[in-house]
Amino acid sequence: MATGKLHIDLGALVRNWQALDAQSADSVETAAVVKADGYGLGAPQVARALARAGARRFFVAAAEEGAAVRQALGPGPQICVFSGHMAGDTDMIHDLDLVPMLNSLEQLTRHLEALPGRPFGIQLDTGMNRLGMEPAEWGAVAEIALGAGPELIMSHLACADEPDHPQNQQQLDTFRAMTDGLNVPRSLAATGGILMGPDYHFDITRPGVGMYGGAPFEDASPVVNLSLPVIQIRELEPGETVGYSATYTAQEPTVIATVSGGYADGLIRAMSGRGHLFFEGAPCPIAGRVSMDLISVDITHLSSAPKALEILGPDQTVDDLANAAGTIGYEILTSLGARYARQYNGTGQHA
Ligand SMILES: *Cc1c(COP(=O)(O)O)cnc(C)c1O
Repeated sequence: MATGKLHIDLGALVRNWQALDAQSADSVETAAVVKADGYGLGAPQVARALARAGARRFFVAAAEEGAAVRQALGPGPQICVFSGHMAGDTDMIHDLDLVPMLNSLEQLTRHLEALPGRPFGIQLDTGMNRLGMEPAEWGAVAEIALGAGPELIMSHLACADEPDHPQNQQQLDTFRAMTDGLNVPRSLAATGGILMGPDYHFDITRPGVGMYGGAPFEDASPVVNLSLPVIQIRELEPGETVGYSATYTAQEPTVIATVSGGYADGLIRAMSGRGHLFFEGAPCPIAGRVSMDLISVDITHLSSAPKALEILGPDQTVDDLANAAGTIGYEILTSLGARYARQYNGTGQHA
């Protein structure tokens, strides 16, 4: 079966990382977040391209993801794990030289007992109530933690995609109160925090989605292009329906292209009847339900029969498609399935 072609422009990815890096002072290190398989685009390829461009520190969600990145990068670059030192992770953290961001007294104790002298960071909760030590817990363990020499202290902003949200300033104040004067490198900003300006930058920034071409980084270059081959084209009489549950009915003579790709490929069912595919800039509406492997598209208005239709590219960004489906670019990116033929441009690498 002909699958969709997913082009990933590693040159654009690197330019986005450099543009985010340029937003902060030279003294600020710009790391890179490559969790969830590099936001669905391939952590090994993404990490190698960024390492060649000068990134020295990478963040992943879990130790297993760190293993894949270490394998791709070899020794040297620092690989930090947001979920910290979980029970059962000790060997992986040790053997692959990962740096857990310790989230609790329990994790701190586990790390210092199991891997004394090995690097770690501290994650603080400044108001998101998701991961990290809260002020009282940090107050109780700070002396022990600092005595063991953390690589960095970090926290995460809950509302950085809304610069005017009052929680940003509150979290900034809390982070300062918890870390001022400690003489340990600090990190607070992901993509949104970088764009909010130098107060949020501290020593290390951690961009993710902006590198991959997504909001809130408005100036990002698009990184992904996805086109889906047309398998069949059919002509409908008025009154005929398309797809599961017959939710689309032709009102006039209509031409429908059936393309290869569906919700099993991350083209989520919420795009049914709402999204568009594109042919040479012309929008072609999705007709009826998205199925597991197929999408029906109204191409009545096209003057020639397309071989493929584009769902992500210059005419429709990840965020445009996300808006049509009622979600966010992060979900579209990380849902992109494993069935596509992946092509990496920009550094001469192939998957
Ligand atoms: C995902 C994540 C990031 C990157 O966030 P973006 O919004 O994608 O830039 C940074 N820090 C933490 C803790 C994260 O979970």
